[in-house]
Amino acid sequence: MTDCLFCKIVAGDIPADIVYRDDIMTVFRDINPRARVHLLAIPNHHVESLDELTAEDASWVGHITRMLPIVARESGLTQGFRTVVNTGVGGGQEVYHLHYHILGDVRDADWRGF
Ligand code: 5GP
Repeated sequence: MTDCLFCKIVAGDIPADIVYRDDIMTVFRDINPRARVHLLAIPNHHVESLDELTAEDASWVGHITRMLPIVARESGLTQGFRTVVNTGVGGGQEVYHLHYHILGDVRDADWRGF
């Protein structure tokens, strides 16, 4: 999608600190980190939010979910991490390209009341 910020990151049109990438997904550092490590994992193709998913998306959703702990560990989060997915206006979603926040060392982080 041409107007989508995260599609532009996938395409390389906007710079980002990318920590992992494969045919299905890209993981990069959040520009405004709310924890010592704050990554965003996104599908490479445009999907607005969890609200859009159908049964046909199970395969790539499964791949991203399986990769979250692997990428987190490789990014130094050996003690665990928090995953957050904001969906729609009620969920506080700001960027409408599905993304999984990966937050590490969150005990001192104050983010959305968690
Ligand atoms: P949301 O509120 O939609 O769940 O989260 C969007 C996230 O995208 C925010 O944490 C915000 O800091 C991050 N973000 C917004 N614009 C950019 C950008 O241009 N580059 C990067 N790396 N992160 C961004």
